[in-house]
Amino acid sequence: MPAGTSLSRPSRRHFLAGAAACAAAPWLRLDPAFAQPLSAGPVQVGAFKVTPLLDGLFPLPLAMVPDAASPDGAKLIRAMGAPAAGPLPIPVNAFAVERNGRLILIDAGTGAAGGADLGKVARALAAAGLDRTKVEAVILTHLHVDHAGGTIDAAGKPVFPNAELVVQHSEIEFWMDDGIRSRAPQGMDGYFGAARAVLSAYPKKVRAVNGEVELFSGLKAIPEPGHTPGHMGVMIEDGHNSLLMWADIMHVGPLQFPHPAWSVLFDVNRTQAAETRARMLDRMAVERIPVMGSHLADRGIIEREGAGYHMVAMP
Ligand SMILES: [Zn+2]
Repeated sequence: MPAGTSLSRPSRRHFLAGAAACAAAPWLRLDPAFAQPLSAGPVQVGAFKVTPLLDGLFPLPLAMVPDAASPDGAKLIRAMGAPAAGPLPIPVNAFAVERNGRLILIDAGTGAAGGADLGKVARALAAAGLDRTKVEAVILTHLHVDHAGGTIDAAGKPVFPNAELVVQHSEIEFWMDDGIRSRAPQGMDGYFGAARAVLSAYPKKVRAVNGEVELFSGLKAIPEPGHTPGHMGVMIEDGHNSLLMWADIMHVGPLQFPHPAWSVLFDVNRTQAAETRARMLDRMAVERIPVMGSHLADRGIIEREGAGYHMVAMP
């Protein structure tokens, strides 16, 4: 197993912080002013056609971003047009990737688990004229429910009957580990149950991969450990054209581009997640490869700005 992707043991403190924040925040509804699709349309990367599939908007409680309580946090939240007390509207995106008649998904959204505002990936796929039975693989950037939950229906049956699931080995190891699960607080237990339900719905059709490897021709795994142990991005490349789907490198762009050290409590290992975020931001700013994300409203090029970064959005 390559360095940087080994199974990390999150501290109980990390677990507890996240669970406490979730417990303190009842399910929130978004201001209807935000109930609009934020993701852009399809984009071409060489011969690849990449179509964002909006799963919905997740209402993120402010308590999940502890640094948002700072004066600068309050200023940035005002600039977002979000209510001062939250919640923040966070898009949840999956992506369809097509080339030469082949169809692969990167993530699948929340499925039935996320309530009425989420779980719209299957509909978005159909609206794009794509057939879920033609999906040959779902690359799962990690096994959190807002990424993997949409691979199964409310009865736990596969939504993509002809697909294999492609996941980092270290990710599977983490969520399948009974010891880690038993040490996690009760608030985390649902994450383990959801990850296991997904894996067990695709028996013999889960491909575990290790580190930075080619998943399919032109689609490469980019290990980004921290958010979860086997969290990865997917580099889409054709000739001189590239686009990185960096998954959950950040959750609230308007706060975390200017303050890359700010973390959300969803990160299993917040220290490692912040290191990975710093490394990926620096690399993308140097290489000028366009980026899209699971929770970014825009896609574009990363540029340095003061001690942080900003994104120059592209259509
Ligand atoms: Zn996520």
